[in-house]
Amino acid sequence: MSIITNIHLLKNRRTKIVATLGPASKDPEIIKQLIQAGVNVFRLNMSHGDHDFHKTTYHHIRNIADELEAPVAILADLCGPKIRTGKFREGQIYLEKNSRVTVTTRDIVGEPGLIPSQYVALSNDVKPKDHILLNDGALELVVDSVSGTEITCTVVYGGTLKNHKGINLPGVSVSAPSLTEKDREDAKFVLELGVDFLALSFVRRASDVSELKTLIQESGKSTAVIAKIEKPEALENAEAILNIADGIMVARGDLGVELSPEQVPVAQNQLIDLARSKFKPVIVATQMLESMVENARPTRAEVTDISHAVTQTADAVMLSAETATGAFPVEAVKMMDRITRQTEAYQWKSGSYDTLANTGLRAPITIWNAVSNVTAQLARDLMVRAVLVISQSGMSAATMSSARPSAPVVAITGHAHNCRRMALLWSVIPVLALDAGTMNPNDLARRVARELQIADTGEYVLLVRGFHSNPAKNNPSVTVLAV
Ligand code: ATP
Ligand code: MG
Ligand code: MG
Repeated sequence: MSIITNIHLLKNRRTKIVATLGPASKDPEIIKQLIQAGVNVFRLNMSHGDHDFHKTTYHHIRNIADELEAPVAILADLCGPKIRTGKFREGQIYLEKNSRVTVTTRDIVGEPGLIPSQYVALSNDVKPKDHILLNDGALELVVDSVSGTEITCTVVYGGTLKNHKGINLPGVSVSAPSLTEKDREDAKFVLELGVDFLALSFVRRASDVSELKTLIQESGKSTAVIAKIEKPEALENAEAILNIADGIMVARGDLGVELSPEQVPVAQNQLIDLARSKFKPVIVATQMLESMVENARPTRAEVTDISHAVTQTADAVMLSAETATGAFPVEAVKMMDRITRQTEAYQWKSGSYDTLANTGLRAPITIWNAVSNVTAQLARDLMVRAVLVISQSGMSAATMSSARPSAPVVAITGHAHNCRRMALLWSVIPVLALDAGTMNPNDLARRVARELQIADTGEYVLLVRGFHSNPAKNNPSVTVLAV
C-alpha cells in the first residue's frame, strides 16, 4: 500500500476561516485579497485600535463583501477584564532574566525597568510571591513587594515586551467585573455599526454572557454572542455558558496561561464536542500560524495543529497577529485554506464524514438530533450533492451543520443578517433569497442548487425544513429531491 498525499480537493471548504484585522490588513485592497483567499469572518479586536479605526475597517469590509457578493460576517471582540500593559516610550522594552522591574498602576508611559499596567486594581490583587505572566505567558515575573501603586518584581523568564500585551495572574482572583465600562462603550459602538457577532473575553460564568445579552437587547439588536473560553472557571461552567451563548471560542493564548499548556488540547477536544452537541459553533483560536507573523512559511507543527482542529471538526479556525500585524496576512489565509482543504479531502475520501453524526446517543434523543442525524445518514447513503436547509433564523442550519454531513449544507434565508451569521457554521454555504418565505420550498431548493452549480439536472439533493423552537410548531421534514 502506498501513502496518498495528493488528494482531489472538495469544491466547498467545510471549516471556516476567521481573520483578525489590524494595521497590516486594514487597506481595502488587502481586505479584498483576504476575502478572495477565503476569509469567512473578520474579527475586530477592541483591545487594539480606536473606534475610528474599527469604523473605517467595518465599512471597508461591508463594501468589499457586497462588491464580491461574499457572505462575510464581522465579529467584534470585547476586551473583558483582560489586564494589559500600557505603552512604552520606544514601543517595547527588553526584560533581562533576574533583573528587577517595577510594574506600576500609575497612568504613565513605560521605559526600561518600568512597566505600566492599564488595570489600576492590580496592586491590590497581587501579593509577594505571586507570579505575573506577560504576553500570553511568554515572559514571567515574581512579585517581591507591593507598595501603593508600585509592584516590585524579579524577572523569571525574560525577553522583549511590546505595547499593550496581556498580563495574567494564574491563581489570583481578579476583582474586575466581566463587562467593564470600556466593554459597555465598545459594545454600544459596534452594535450601532451593525456587527454580526460580539465576542466576550474572560467569561467566567453564564451570567457574564446574560449581562452582555441584556445590553444587546437594550440596544434593540439581536447580535449573536461568542463566549471566549480562557479561564478555568469557564471550563467548569462550560455547559451553562453554552446554553446562553450563541457559540464559543477556544481562546488558547490565555487558556494556556491560566491552565498549563498541556491541558489546552484536551480542553479543546471536549469544548468542540460540547458545542456540537448544543448545535452551536466553536472557533479554535491563537497561534495557529504564529511563525507566519514573520515568515512566509509555517512550521510543520502549526500545519498539524490546524489539520488537527479540522479533524476534530471545529466550525472555524482563527488567525490573530498573523493577519493583524504580520508580514504575510494574505499568504497566511491562503496557507490556512490549503491546510484545511487537504485534510478535509482526506476525511471525505477515507469516509470519516460518513460516521461523524452523533448516532451513538441513547434513545430517546431530541427531534433536532434525530432529524439531523438521519439526514446525514441519507446524505451518505444516497451520495447526494448537497443538503439544503430553509432556515430563516439560522437555527435549522446550525442543527444540520452540527451533524457534520458529508455533503455541503446550503442554508437559504430571507434575512441578510442571518445569512452573514451563518458564514461561521461548519460547511454552511449561506444563500440570501428574499422570496424564501413565499416560494414553493422544492422549487426554491432546486433553483438554488442549480444557481450554485452544486447539482446537475437529475442529481439528488436533500431539503430539510420545519424546525421550530416552539415544540407545537416543530415539525421538521426531509425531502429527497432530484434537481
Ligand atoms: P486577545 O486576548 O483578545 O486575543 P491579543 O492581544 O492576543 O488579544 P490578537 O488579536 O490575538 O490580540 O493579536 C493581534 C496582535 O496584533 C496583538 O498582539 C496586537 O499587538 C496587534 N495589533 C495592533 N493593532 C491592532 C489592531 N488594530 N487590531 C488587532 N490587533 C492589533
Ligand atoms: Mg485572549
Ligand atoms: Mg490573542
